[in-house]
Amino acid sequence: MLLERLSRAAAARDAQALTRRRRIAHSACAPRQTVSAAPGDEARPLLTFCSNDYLGLASHPAVVAAFAEGAARYGAGSGASHLVSGHSVAHQRLEGELARWLAPHVPHAQALYFCTGYMANLAVLTALGDSDATLFCETLNHASLIDGARLARAAVRRYPHADVAALDAQLRECDTPLRLIVTDSVFSMDGDLAPLAELLALADRHDAWLVVDDAHGFGVLGERGRGVLEHFGLSSERLIYIGTLGKAAGVAGAFVAAHPLVIDHLINTARSYIYTTAAPPAAAHALLTSLALIEGDEGAARRARLAHGIAQLRGGLAPLCARAGWQLGDSATAIQPLIVGENAAALALSGALEAQGIRVGAIRPPTVAPGTARLRITLSASHAADDVERLLSALAATAMTTEAAA
Ligand SMILES: *Cc1c(COP(=O)(O)O)cnc(C)c1O
Repeated sequence: MLLERLSRAAAARDAQALTRRRRIAHSACAPRQTVSAAPGDEARPLLTFCSNDYLGLASHPAVVAAFAEGAARYGAGSGASHLVSGHSVAHQRLEGELARWLAPHVPHAQALYFCTGYMANLAVLTALGDSDATLFCETLNHASLIDGARLARAAVRRYPHADVAALDAQLRECDTPLRLIVTDSVFSMDGDLAPLAELLALADRHDAWLVVDDAHGFGVLGERGRGVLEHFGLSSERLIYIGTLGKAAGVAGAFVAAHPLVIDHLINTARSYIYTTAAPPAAAHALLTSLALIEGDEGAARRARLAHGIAQLRGGLAPLCARAGWQLGDSATAIQPLIVGENAAALALSGALEAQGIRVGAIRPPTVAPGTARLRITLSASHAADDVERLLSALAATAMTTEAAA
């Protein structure tokens, strides 16, 4: 019965070009990565534009060495959850450093390190979203925020993408004692930025809190890479900030930075914090090196290289889009969506690139809305100008075939 049902579901996915499959990486995350299509298949080198390793720190020698040093010092695993015996001085130091980074933007901030951003988001929304609260969630929020809102006891309202006026109206109608606005900072499939200054002004006006998930901003946005709050120059005690550490920071995990009473409440009540084994202290140790790189000259140089790549890519894509009928998203960040429309067309485009040795992910529903299947091109500071040129030429070759077929 179960198996019949699953096989029907699998056939339906296939029919809609929605089946997802994993490729196997045989080398470190980097623009040049050796990849096989299936177990036992030959691995071949691909030029990749799909990781979230925006600064190229995942395989940076200093970060890798720090990870090894951390493992030698603290062992491979933490052995228990933070509240039992798994909380190490490496975790503690990392939290101290992150609190120092965010303090100019979240006054008196303390930081709390989590195993993943998914778990951090569940923690914040379930621990704060009590039954006398309302969560105001942006429609394009990441799945982890959606799941956190589902698990919370709070009432949930969704406001349309970037629609500050609609949110204002919803807040005005709301009479629960606690109100939390919940948003991605950089939208993960579109690359555009939430209007955070306006959202914070609304929070002030309506005595609400603003929860910001900066998974794609931490490390890359702001003069010193401190993320979207530095980028917009925002500061408020009403902010509850979530940064992830497996993307630009190149390692793993995430953190919440907020008022000490918020952090204390999470430590004591958030189930996705309490009931899980602490991340390896070596990861926290490696992250201290990532942070030093991000805020130093090397981080600034890498952010500048990334900005060059983004400008080069967008400049080259504009004429191609006009020819092939693709739509380039309005994004100034490392996430550059090339919207193709139909699922099969997105898969075919990604397949045509792969045949030319280039890997870009095709993103389909339910991750994005039906009819907006896309290539999600992500750039890294490790991409050379030649790499971006190669992607543009491969897309141009494909655009010509598309044009010929049309
Ligand atoms: C990746 C991502 C997360 C989850 O972070 P992980 O550390 O990968 O679990 C949360 N929010 C957004 C917007 C993301 O892109």
